[in-house]
Amino acid sequence: MKQKQGLSGRQKASWLEMANKLGFRDPHLAKRVAEKIQAISAKKGAVKICHVCGTHEWTITHYGLRSLLPENVEVIAGPGCPVCIVPASEIDEAVQIALRGVVITCFGDLLRVPGSGRSLLDARAQGADVRVVYGVGDAVQMARGEPDKEFAFFAVGFETTSPSTVVEITNRPPKNMSFLISHRVIPPAMELLVEMKDLCLNGFIAPGHVSTIIGLKPYEMFPTNYGMPTVVAGFEPLDVLFAVYMIMKQLDKGKPALENEYVRAVQWKGNIKAQKLMKRVFETVDGKWRGLGNIASSKFKLKEEYAVLDAHQRYGVEVDDGVDLQPGCKCHLVVIGKIRPTECSLFMNACTPQKPVGACMVSSEGTCRIWARQSRVNQVFNKAF
Ligand code: SF4
Repeated sequence: MKQKQGLSGRQKASWLEMANKLGFRDPHLAKRVAEKIQAISAKKGAVKICHVCGTHEWTITHYGLRSLLPENVEVIAGPGCPVCIVPASEIDEAVQIALRGVVITCFGDLLRVPGSGRSLLDARAQGADVRVVYGVGDAVQMARGEPDKEFAFFAVGFETTSPSTVVEITNRPPKNMSFLISHRVIPPAMELLVEMKDLCLNGFIAPGHVSTIIGLKPYEMFPTNYGMPTVVAGFEPLDVLFAVYMIMKQLDKGKPALENEYVRAVQWKGNIKAQKLMKRVFETVDGKWRGLGNIASSKFKLKEEYAVLDAHQRYGVEVDDGVDLQPGCKCHLVVIGKIRPTECSLFMNACTPQKPVGACMVSSEGTCRIWARQSRVNQVFNKAF
């Protein structure tokens, strides 16, 4: 999800320049790392490494990193897209609240995520006031500027985006503002994946930006309790390749550990100020993830003292369990990396970025959407050359 607080065009350009200078995209270095991975892999059987981040999937797909890996080393995409895992029931609730005349504000990639029957875009077509914002602060500003209307911010995302929601909640929002909290917590979903024995995972690449907030401690259980090598990684191609190499080295030595590849951004303790603020405002409860069912302690909920700001309680809309998967959609298998998007018969047939059937095709962080974009790029490339 794009937020206003992100980098400006000029900042991005200078960051790219720095990344290139530092060699995070150096093809010669990438080749050397790939050779080292190859050397270890020759001594091993099949190795399956899972990442849980839409941006990691984008880097891997966009730079063709899978083609650099040996045949027996596979990197699969887990539930790392915060929009893809919002269950249909929560979309249904937002739609119902919008149809009651409340202005629903949300990030743009949430608009087309299918609910059981309707998306927020459909609700807008029916006359509901659904507005796209670049950050939660914009939503609060709108509510201040239009005191005669009720506003609710549909707060979606992992630990990366939840601090910005918390800041606005603790900043005395106007009385006509409330929050529909749908934030999820990543480590419990990773634990679910390890416990799916038929996935046969051998290691985790943990998400860099979530880790800037939560630090490394929440991942300690993976090497300690499950013998699962875990490496926090950044988002440049060499970050991801290094992370794979670090995991391969751990597997080679038979010593699973928790390591930090992304030392330029992630500290062991994370962002303590953000963590304290989140603890003050949220409690952790069980939460449903689209296609994955209920995951224990995986969802943030507003604490009782902030209940007055809870859109769920304010509007008391009751919805059913919801229909997460449309007929033929295999998003539930794509989000755990059990199948590739191309193994869904609807991929780029009935389901395209223009007309998405499943949630994984909607957001720019969704695995199907990323693969769809790359398949278009490849088509153009193959035609041109
Ligand atoms: S291609 Fe479309 S329908 Fe198939 S799994 Fe992906 S999002 Fe779901």
